[in-house]
Amino acid sequence: MSDIIQLLPDSIANQIAAGEVIQRPASVVKELIENAVDAGATSIDVIIKDAGRTLIQVIDNGSGMSETDARLCFERHATSKIKKVEDIFNIQTKGFRGEALASIAAVAQVELNTRTADMELGTSVIIEGSKCTQQEACNCAVGTSFIVKNLFFNVPARRNFLKTERAELGHIQDEFIRVALVHANVAFTLNHNGKVIYNLPKSTLKQRIVNTFGSVYNSRIFPLDTQCDVVNVVGFIGKPEFARKTRGEQYLFVNERFIKHPYFNHAVVSAFESVIPQEHFPTYFIYLQVNPQSIDINIHPTKTEVKFQDERLIYSILHSAVKKSIGNFHLNSQIDFENVSPIEFSTANIHSQPKIPQTVSNPNYNPFANSGGSSGRQNEWKPTVVADGWQKIYESIKENIPEVPTQENIEQIDNQQLVEDTSQISDNVNDISLFQTQNKYIIAKTKSGFVVIEQEAALERILFERNIKYIENQPCTSQKLLFPETLVFTVQDAEIINELLSEFTRLGFEIEPFGNNTFILNAVPPELGDKNVQEIIEQSLEAYKNNLLSLKISKKNNLAHSFSRSLCHQKKNQILTTEEMQSLVNELFSSQSPQISPSGRKICLLFNENELMRLFR
Ligand code: ADP
Ligand code: MG
Repeated sequence: MSDIIQLLPDSIANQIAAGEVIQRPASVVKELIENAVDAGATSIDVIIKDAGRTLIQVIDNGSGMSETDARLCFERHATSKIKKVEDIFNIQTKGFRGEALASIAAVAQVELNTRTADMELGTSVIIEGSKCTQQEACNCAVGTSFIVKNLFFNVPARRNFLKTERAELGHIQDEFIRVALVHANVAFTLNHNGKVIYNLPKSTLKQRIVNTFGSVYNSRIFPLDTQCDVVNVVGFIGKPEFARKTRGEQYLFVNERFIKHPYFNHAVVSAFESVIPQEHFPTYFIYLQVNPQSIDINIHPTKTEVKFQDERLIYSILHSAVKKSIGNFHLNSQIDFENVSPIEFSTANIHSQPKIPQTVSNPNYNPFANSGGSSGRQNEWKPTVVADGWQKIYESIKENIPEVPTQENIEQIDNQQLVEDTSQISDNVNDISLFQTQNKYIIAKTKSGFVVIEQEAALERILFERNIKYIENQPCTSQKLLFPETLVFTVQDAEIINELLSEFTRLGFEIEPFGNNTFILNAVPPELGDKNVQEIIEQSLEAYKNNLLSLKISKKNNLAHSFSRSLCHQKKNQILTTEEMQSLVNELFSSQSPQISPSGRKICLLFNENELMRLFR
């Protein structure tokens, strides 16, 4: 038999590699912004069209590239950021794999214009599907501009796989924010279809957070600052009274890199435990700084997973740092949640810096004294305050620190894990098999086992979030009735309807008061079709009134909740087609809390391999 093995041509190898690095337009945005930051830019502009499908442009005023580098940067494993193997253990830049540009150029049409300060003329390179079609001198500003057009033009499966414009833009915004929140000293803009979405001038960290999330944050966050030998913890945390039932802004960074770390998330969230109501999520923007040699950022291609050497110790420091910071705002675990809104902080505290927690320090102790040489780049790790007090604190509390998560206990540590684990369901919903049983449950495969979804609870979550959106942002388009209907209610119900008329309109009803507890119904939400509207409204009002007695929630939340309950009731035990199951699962996992319904019912149960093994034991 003749030899059959061949080396893949670069263009194919790059396209395969691109699958790992470039999953969607947001990945391109992330890689290009990170490169601009690595190039020392102080101003980075991102211009997007059609959520990145047609155009992504990133312009920076960084170092620029020489003529040779402008061509070489598109080669696979071409990087200026690591030179020898030790460098991998001391990474100070965002990128280091030299894969991003090769991957982008494999799946898009890319134009690069770049100039270094010492050159009169810059270089322009055009490359598409890994083939360079043009390279010439050009006039351009110092710095670099990448234009990426028609992403996935040669990978139709990927292109078709992209989600709605809104979803893709959401991913882009997430990536943009994750970088912008770390580099407050760099000006960023994000422009989509000609509209400025973010304009973030160079500022302090607090101002960057406020500019990114809105001026209300000015009075909603307070600082956190604990420095010791193992880790520096700085940043801002949200005042407990602004904790919400939806997972809001929770950002954790290590050495200027956004990370997801359920274990540390637990350290932060549990520090809030006694000061915020159950099922509420605190806001935090926390920046950890550790010796780069004590972490491994090389364990995941998209690099949001980082492995730490001293996980349990950092857990305890982080936990105490947050607790202390909350303590500084005179909050204690005795707060009465019934009277929680609003907690009055004395104005003096809002505007003045809180006291930084004191640590016992030993200025001569350097735990890193013997660790190998670092290559001395810009952000080199320097323990600012050296303290050995933490070791003592750690010894005294270590019994209470949860174990570093293992496969078995990770779900208990953070149920976000469930979302992670099932994210592939929503990502690959066309590829996986779903089935329904008892007209009540949907079963879907996950990475490590399967998940059972309670249909009604899931529907309640989806409808609730949809209704909130209709009421708060985007009214539902209504469907005109051929023949208007007359609805008659009790005095009490008629009163409530009158009070909620504008909310009902936003939900897609067109209801006109006609005197005498009577209303004319001209249009309904399309979802209702030919259902009995009188009954649905009555049921909603029943739930609404019950909620008034038992829950302290806003009018809008109450209506959204009651209306979803009543719709759910209508759709109980419905047989679902595969498409219907797919869209239900998809919508559920893109909702704010896929685990818990607005009425507090469990939506899904996760069975992983270990769980199953245990059940059969
Ligand atoms: P990595 O960032 O992992 O090194 P990339 O493929 O993202 O790999 O980039 C390859 C190289 O191209 C970088 O190491 C850098 O030298 C150069 N480069 C990329 N983007 C820029 C930029 N905006 N300005 C200057 N140089 C850049
Ligand atoms: Mg890079």
